[in-house]
Order: sequence, then C-alpha cells, then structure tokens
Amino acid sequence: MLTSILDLAFPQPCLLCAGPDSGRPGICQPCLQDLPWHLHDTCPQCALPSQHNLLCGQCISLAPAFDATFSLFRYQFPLSGLLQQFKYRQLLSLAHTMGNLLVEHVPHIPVADCIIPMPLHQERLQERGFNQSMEIAKVVSARLHIPVDFRTCKRIRPTPPQASLPYKQRLRNMQGAFECLTTLQDMNVILIDDVMTTGASLNALAKTVKAAGAKHVECWVIARTFSP
Ligand SMILES: [Zn+2]
Ligand SMILES: [Zn+2]
Repeated sequence: MLTSILDLAFPQPCLLCAGPDSGRPGICQPCLQDLPWHLHDTCPQCALPSQHNLLCGQCISLAPAFDATFSLFRYQFPLSGLLQQFKYRQLLSLAHTMGNLLVEHVPHIPVADCIIPMPLHQERLQERGFNQSMEIAKVVSARLHIPVDFRTCKRIRPTPPQASLPYKQRLRNMQGAFECLTTLQDMNVILIDDVMTTGASLNALAKTVKAAGAKHVECWVIARTFSP
C-alpha cells in the first residue's frame, strides 16, 4: 500500500504507453481518449448495447433486480490489461482515475443514501489484501459526499471463479452469496464494481439489497463485457 500512496504523490509514467504523466494518475491523455468508451446507445437497466438507449430484450423478458447500470468502458483491450493492474500494482492511481471518471461521465447523479462496493469474501480479501471496488467507491464517495457502506453487505459464501461457467450456472452459483446485516429501508443505493460480465454477481447483490428494503439500486461499473 505504501508503494501505491507514493505512486499517487509522485507522477508516474502512463501504464499503457510508458509516456510521461500528462493526464490522470496512471494514464496519459492520448491513451485515455483511445480507451473503449461505452457511453452511447446502451440499455439503461443493464448497460448492454441497445439502439436509441431503449430497454433491451433481456431486461424486458427477465428484469434484473437492479434498476439502472452505468458502465464507463467496454471490457476490451487495452482497458482489460489496465484493469488487471489493479491486482498487482497502481491500485490507488487507477482507483483515483476511474472513480473520478465515473462521477464525471454518469448521465445523472442520483440522490443516493449510500454506496456499496461489491463485497469480497473474507478469505479472498485476506489473500489479496484489498478490494478494488472499495477503493473506487471511496473516490466516488469523496467526490459526491455520499457515504460508503461497507458493513451492511457481506459475501457469505466464497464463490468459485465464474469465468468458466455457463450463464445459467453463474446465476445459480451466486444464489445466497450475499447477506445484509441491517436494514436498508427505503434507501437509494449505488453498487460499485470494477467489471460487470453477465451481471450475475451484481444481480445477486441487488436482490439482497432490495430484500433488505432498498428502494432504488443502480450499478456503476468501470467496464462491461458483452458476451454471456
Ligand atoms: Zn499513455
Ligand atoms: Zn438491458
């Protein structure tokens, strides 16, 4: 963590091109512009591509538990590589940059009562030493003056890696993965995660948060993949 704090205090070369730091911490302005931005023609509920920003077929036939989703980027090269860096280094620089970009690009800032970062299971947290969604949530929280609630929701079951599972199995895999320890009665909640793939994890978390009484739940993610 000390390294990360130093990274933020002293300009670093761009993580993508190694050029001088001319833009945001960890990424230079030209590389930032070249990233796969995902700001047009998306389903407002799940952020999949959808013409004229209309609700997509999937959300019409089987609505997810969350009410809205905003994704900054498509999960493609070179962004995919950049987000991998979260796991190794540059945590604070990237969280700072991505958190600020979320706030600056979300179509409207909701009146929210709290921000809940995607919880990691305790074992995973100990293994990794940090939760990248929490680091992004802290930046968003400071910018919007909305508190981060990292106590109410817990991941109570370590879930096996999702990537190799078919979609239906992913949904089943997430059942009962989270619990809320206190009520969220009538609250408007923002859920924050780094990458949204099928949305199974966010859907399971949103379901749990709504079962605890939340009124409106929206997901903010750095990147969204499109294939199920
Ligand atoms: Zn660069
Ligand atoms: Zn949709």
